Amino acid sequence: MEPIIGIDLGTTNSVVATVVDGVPTVIAGRSGYELLPSVVAYARTGRYLVGELAKRQAVTNAEQTVTASKRLIGRKWSSAQVQQARAKATYRIVEGPHDDVRVELGGRTMALPEIAAMILTELKLDAEAWFGQPVVKSVITVPAHFNDAQRTATLDAGKISGLDVLRIINEPTAAALAYGFGRKVDKKVVVFDLGGGTFDVSLLNIGSGVFDVVATGGDTFLGGDDFDERLIDLLADPFERAEGLVLRADPMARQRLKDAAEKAKIALSDAQESEVNLPFIATTPGGPLHLQRVLRRAEFEEKTRDLVDRCARLCQDVMRDAFRSARDLDEVVLVGGMTRMPAIQAACRRVFDREPSKGVHPQEAVALGAAIQAHALAKEADSGAGVLLLDVTPHSLGVCIAGGLVQVLIPKNTTVPTSASHLFTTIKDNQKAAKIMVMQGESPQAQGNELLGELILDNLPKALRGEVEIDVLFEISSDGIVGVSAKDLKTGQRQSIQVTATSGLTDEEVRQMMEQNADYLLARKTEEQFASVQQDAGKLANELEQLLPKVKSAVEGSQSGEEAVSRAAKLLERTRAAEAARDTAMMLAAKESLDQTLQLLRGIAQKLGRR
Ligand code: AMP
Repeated sequence: MEPIIGIDLGTTNSVVATVVDGVPTVIAGRSGYELLPSVVAYARTGRYLVGELAKRQAVTNAEQTVTASKRLIGRKWSSAQVQQARAKATYRIVEGPHDDVRVELGGRTMALPEIAAMILTELKLDAEAWFGQPVVKSVITVPAHFNDAQRTATLDAGKISGLDVLRIINEPTAAALAYGFGRKVDKKVVVFDLGGGTFDVSLLNIGSGVFDVVATGGDTFLGGDDFDERLIDLLADPFERAEGLVLRADPMARQRLKDAAEKAKIALSDAQESEVNLPFIATTPGGPLHLQRVLRRAEFEEKTRDLVDRCARLCQDVMRDAFRSARDLDEVVLVGGMTRMPAIQAACRRVFDREPSKGVHPQEAVALGAAIQAHALAKEADSGAGVLLLDVTPHSLGVCIAGGLVQVLIPKNTTVPTSASHLFTTIKDNQKAAKIMVMQGESPQAQGNELLGELILDNLPKALRGEVEIDVLFEISSDGIVGVSAKDLKTGQRQSIQVTATSGLTDEEVRQMMEQNADYLLARKTEEQFASVQQDAGKLANELEQLLPKVKSAVEGSQSGEEAVSRAAKLLERTRAAEAARDTAMMLAAKESLDQTLQLLRGIAQKLGRR
């Protein structure tokens, strides 16, 4: 079977997994780690870095390091969340041509799907190294609460990275798959998923291989980063007041604060206190300033109480939507790194009136579930077997009607795939076209919802008002993506329609980005090949360098010996030149010659030793 992978594309970390001999397994990256930090940077060396290497240089290169980009993907530039993220980011977030968001990195203005594609490319390379063959087929997870634009942007990222994304599935549903896989479970389960950037809570019925989501809720702008921000406030506010300077205006200081805050947050999950020590955090005419502070768990919990309460309220909303009470539940499964925080666990205990289960790995379950779904889809294609996943749409879908109100066509928590049709009639005689605004969200007012796109029905036939009837079909796929088509009821013909997405990329942009990413992929592969040859050649060159002085003095007077030594010295120069030029072919040739020369010199050294 062709290799197939499941990907958890997270705000803080991303994970890739697969199913081996029926066992869902996380694929360790080439760097040896299971989690790939979702960080992309343009390093001072002029190269793009992704993952651990990008994270490590974030403090010294904060303006060229993009973190938590998932918080921006598929959002409109004009949205409050983007403006909030912009005010806090150390890198530059700018406006795109379609009211979308772009970031400036390495002298380029990049779309968010391009950034996500670089992370996906890294995971693809990890998987390819693991399988030893190309990997294309995949399932990618998204927060259950992602809307159409965010899902489409994620699919675009998959395309750009060269992956064939068979399905987009919701993170809590994926975690439930990992939880229920291979066990006889017949339960009502809540998945509470709090990661670095998003919060999801889903209620599912699991039984006989069927994973039936009853209701889902969440917030795509609520996660570990918000907790970190509160800790940054705790650290920086008093310091800034006392010293009369704005510490957070300096990207390097901001990044150091962010790292320290996250470390302290993690430490406070186990300890009551954590000391933060940031020497030389600022320089003033009076000399350097150092920030030192002991953070207590109690003050952290106090400062983040509203965030925890928001999670709890969203859980109650989901139970209400599912017509359930805590008594009806069998299990609460915790997913996402943030669920290690004791106050979060306590909130779960309070809301669901039970001890949460720790039956899955909080940071791996989503990727494992994605791998299970990927495997099931592949098997389905082969033999019709697999798990059955019945997910729901997290948002209501509707159209804007008179008075700026919304008429809901598909209510939230409807099982997907689904469809609904609506009959539109003309309101003027000889009306040539009609514009329909497609909205996603829960507000009765159009303004309070996300405008997915504008639907233009044009070339309408000449007729009196009300005589032209057009049946518009709205569909939501298993990926949660909205599609629209229309039919003129009189003629039975499909009406030409045009959906203008209000944000997101055009097909042409995606095509260009795919080309650019293919170039990037080639460069990454060449770089990796060079690094591997360089490492081998480097070892040989070191050995030769050490051996050379000994052999040199011993062969004095022997013409062939002196020639061999001089050739070896030249070879070392060539190796250094190949290194400087970062030329793989040159390095490969140097490595082979180093190997032969070393054998020759070792032989000479041995002979001399025997004499
Ligand atoms: P995830 O997206 O599941 O990888 O979760 C990442 C988030 O979990 C980040 O905000 C981390 O800082 C946070 N996190 C990881 N471990 C812990 C921990 N032990 N206590 C509190 N938060 C944690």
